[in-house]
Amino acid sequence: MKINTLTKEEVFRSLVTTEQGLTAHEAERRLLEFGLNRIEAVKGRSLVLRFADQFTHFLAILLWIAVALSFVSEYLSPGEGMLALGIAIIAVICINAVFTFIQEYRAEKALEAMKKLLPFRVRVLRDARETELSAERVVPGDIVLIAEGDKAPADLRIIEASDLRVNMAALTGESEAVSRTTEPSDGDVMHSRNIAFAGTTVVSGSGIGVAFATGMSTEFGRIAHLTGTVSPGLTPLQKEIVRLTRIVAAIAGVTGVVFFAIGWFSGRTFWENALFAVGIIVANVPEGLLPTVTLALAMGSQRMAKRNALIKTLTSVETLGSVSVICTDKTGTLTQNEMTVKKIGTLCGPSAEAEQWLFTAAGACNNTREVDGELRGDPTELALFRAARGHGIAAASVRLKEFSFDDERKRMSTINVVDGAVYIMTKGAPESVLSVCARCRREVGEVPLDEALRQEAIALYQAFMDQGLRVLAFAYREAPAGGQPLSREEAEQELVFLGFIGLEDPPRPEVAAAIKKCRTAGIRIIMITGDASRTAVAIAREIGLVSGQPTVVEGEAFVRMSDGELRTALAQPEVIFTRMTPKHKLRVVNLLKEEGERVAVTGDGVNDAPALKRADIGIAMGRSGTDVAKEAADMVLLDDNFATIVSAIEEGRAIFDNIKKFITYIFAHLTPEAIPYILYALFRIPLPLTVAQILAIDLGTETLPALGLGVEPPEAGIMNIPPRPKQSTLIDAALLLRSYVFLGLISTAGALFAYFYVLNLGGWRWGMILPLDHPLVRQASTATFLGIVIMQVGNVFACRSSRETVFRRGFFSNRLILGGIAIELLLQVLIVYHPLGNKIFSTAPIPLDIWLLLVPCALALLFAEEGRKYLVRRRGR
Ligand code: ATP
Repeated sequence: MKINTLTKEEVFRSLVTTEQGLTAHEAERRLLEFGLNRIEAVKGRSLVLRFADQFTHFLAILLWIAVALSFVSEYLSPGEGMLALGIAIIAVICINAVFTFIQEYRAEKALEAMKKLLPFRVRVLRDARETELSAERVVPGDIVLIAEGDKAPADLRIIEASDLRVNMAALTGESEAVSRTTEPSDGDVMHSRNIAFAGTTVVSGSGIGVAFATGMSTEFGRIAHLTGTVSPGLTPLQKEIVRLTRIVAAIAGVTGVVFFAIGWFSGRTFWENALFAVGIIVANVPEGLLPTVTLALAMGSQRMAKRNALIKTLTSVETLGSVSVICTDKTGTLTQNEMTVKKIGTLCGPSAEAEQWLFTAAGACNNTREVDGELRGDPTELALFRAARGHGIAAASVRLKEFSFDDERKRMSTINVVDGAVYIMTKGAPESVLSVCARCRREVGEVPLDEALRQEAIALYQAFMDQGLRVLAFAYREAPAGGQPLSREEAEQELVFLGFIGLEDPPRPEVAAAIKKCRTAGIRIIMITGDASRTAVAIAREIGLVSGQPTVVEGEAFVRMSDGELRTALAQPEVIFTRMTPKHKLRVVNLLKEEGERVAVTGDGVNDAPALKRADIGIAMGRSGTDVAKEAADMVLLDDNFATIVSAIEEGRAIFDNIKKFITYIFAHLTPEAIPYILYALFRIPLPLTVAQILAIDLGTETLPALGLGVEPPEAGIMNIPPRPKQSTLIDAALLLRSYVFLGLISTAGALFAYFYVLNLGGWRWGMILPLDHPLVRQASTATFLGIVIMQVGNVFACRSSRETVFRRGFFSNRLILGGIAIELLLQVLIVYHPLGNKIFSTAPIPLDIWLLLVPCALALLFAEEGRKYLVRRRGR
C-alpha cells in the first residue's frame, strides 16, 4: 500500500508507531536497523584519478615539454648533463604533484569539517514528550513537528496541518509554495499533497508528520544518488590565479622559444639553447601558487569558524574582505535577544485587575512551549510568558484557535477559554493593535477608546520606546458563543485595549566597539528592523550607530517611496529602516548593489531568503535562524552576534592580504632567476645559474616560508582603510611592480654581486669564455644561487606586511616562517658543501665570507621595502 492512500490510523499501524511517538528504546533500535538519517556524500573522482590530474594540467605539461627538450638534447649531444636535468624536472613534477595533492586534500577536509559544525536540529515526539534532537537521529515511525522555516528532515506523511505550505524547490526545482493536507489521496506519492519530502522547506504554518523514509531511502537521497555531487567550481580568486599562471607560463614559453632562436642564430649548440629555454620555462612557472591559495582560503575559513562565523563557500572568504555595507537586523544581532519585562502601562492607573488581564493575555496569546523540561520559544514571548507566570497566571488557558503572527500585520491573536468564557486575545505592535481597538479598559470598566484616550495611549508607548524598550500592546474581547468559526478579520476587530508591556533587550556589549571598527574601515551599517522607530533610534544611539539626527524610513513610507527617493535616503550618512518586513530588505539590497556596493545582509526567517541570496554575503543566524535562512545564506553566525560579522570581515581582509603577500614573495624570485639567463644569452658570460639550482630554489625557498605568509595575523591598520574597490583584482600593476621590479631587481643585484665577486676573485675578466664544468663557473653559479636564497630570506620578512612596518610585527612571531627559513638554510648548506649536493646541483663549496657579504644585501632589501612602506603610510595619512 502506498503511504499516501492510508488513513492516519493505517499510517500508524503500518509504521508501528502511535500518536505519542516512539519510545526512546524503540527509536534506538530502529536507528541501528535503518542507520543514521543522512545523505551519504556521493563519491566524486577517485583519489587515484585526482592524483593523476596533477600530472596533466597546464603547468605540468609545460614542464613535460622541458623534460622532452632535455632528452632530445641528450640524444643530440650526449654527456652534457641534459639527461640528469630531464630526470630532475620529472622529480620536480612528482614532488609538485604530491605537494599540490596534499594541499588540496587538506583544504577539502577543512571544508568538510566545517559543514559538521552546523547541526540540523528537529523536534520529534518520543515517549509522548516533545524533544529536540539532531536530524541524523530521526527514524522511520518518528512523529516529527514542523513549522515555518524548518526543513523536513525525512520523508513525512502529514497527519496534522495548520495552514501548512511547503516549498519543493529542493526536489522539483520549482520554487512555489504548495499547501499540504492530511487527507488520504490516490495517485503517486510524488504528487500527493499529504507528503512533505526530506529537503523541502516549510514556508508557512505548522504541522505534524510521520517519518516513513530516512537517509538514502528518501526521495532526496535517491536523487542525490543519481546526480552525484557537483563540484563547486573555482572562486573568482582561484580563477584569477589560474589565468595569471597561464599568462606567466605562456610568456615564459614564448621567451624560451625566442631566446632559443637567438642562440641558434648566434651559433650556439642545440643543447646550450635548450638548456636556456628549459631554464626560462622552469624559472617562470609558479608551480605551487593555486594550491597554496586554495589552502590559504580554506585555512582562513577555519579561522573564521573559530571566531563563530561559518563560511559555506570559499568564494565568500574573499568576498567578505570587500564588504562595504552591512544591513543588519536589530533584535538578537545588535541586541542580546534576552528580553525582560521592564514596564507595564495601562490607562487605568495602578489597578490589580487591569494588570491581571494584561498578563492573562500575555500568557494566553503566546506560543512558548516546554521542550525537554525547558521553556522554548521566541524570546519576546518567552519573557512575556515568564512575567505572566510571575503574576500567578498558571499554564496557558485552553486555546481553541490561533491566528499566527505575521510580519505584515505585526500582531497575533488566539481564541481561548478563560474561566469558562471564550475570549479573543491579541498582542502586537502598538499601532497595529490600537488600530483594531474600539474600546479600552479603565477603572470604571470598558469605555469607548476616543481620540483623547488614543493620544494618551500613544504618548504612553512612545515614552517607553524612547527608553529603547520594545513595546507590545494587548487587547481582548469576549467572543460570541462558540468563538471558533470566526475568521481573522472578524476576530480582530472592536477589541478592548488592555495596555502595554515594555521589554528590555540590552545591546550586546561587543557591538559598540565593532561599530567603531566598521566606521574606521569605511564600512557603512544600515539597521533594518521590524521594531518601532523610537525603539530603534534609542538603541542605535546607545550602541553608537547614530550620533546626530538619523534619517528614519518607516515601512509604511518605504513602500510609497520611489527608487530615486530611496537612493537619496540611502545616501545619507545615518539611515535606519524601521517597521520593515523581510520582503522590503530585498529592495534595499538591490538598490545598494546598483550603487556598486558590496552588501552583507543578515536575516533569520523564511522571508529573508531572497535578500540573503541576492546579497554579496547573506548572513543567517545560527541560533535563532530558520533552516531556510541558513540554507540561503553564505555565512552562518554561530553566536548570532553582529561583532562576529566584523571579525569575519577583518579575517577576510587579512586572508586577501596574505595571499597578496605570498604572491609578491614568490614572484620576487622570478626576476633574479630569469635575468642571469638573459645575461647569459646576450653576453656569453659563464652560466650564472643552473636549471637544477632554479628548481632547488623553487622547491626549497618557495614553499615553506610562503605557507608561513599565509597565516600572518591581520595587519594593525587593516581596519583603518576603506574596503578594496569592487573592480580591484588580486594581482594588479602595483603588486607586479613591487614584486617583479622593485624587490626582484634588488634581489637580482644581490645575487649578481655575489656572482661577479666570485668570478673576479677567481681571475675571470670580461670576455673570457669558460667551459660549463670549470670549477670557477661552478663556484660562481653557486654564489648566484646562494645570493637568491639569502635575498629571499630578507624578502620573506619584507613581505610579512604591506603597510605596517615589519619591526612592529615582531621578528620572531611567525614560527612557520622561522622554521621554513631554518630548513631552507640547512638544505642550502647541504647543497653547497655536501659532495652529493654538489653533484646533483652542479655546485661547489664557496668561501664563508660570501655568506657574510650577502647578509647586508638582504638587509638592504628589507630596509628598501621598509622605506616604501613608510612612504605608503605617510601618503595614507
Ligand atoms: P528585527 O527585524 O530587528 O529582528 P524584530 O524582531 O522586532 O526586529 P519582527 O519580528 O518583524 O522584527 O517584529 C516586528 C514587530 O512585531 C515587533 O516590534 C513587535 O511589535 C511585533 N511582534 C514581534 N513578535 C511578535 C509576536 N510574537 N506577537 C505579536 N507581535 C509581535
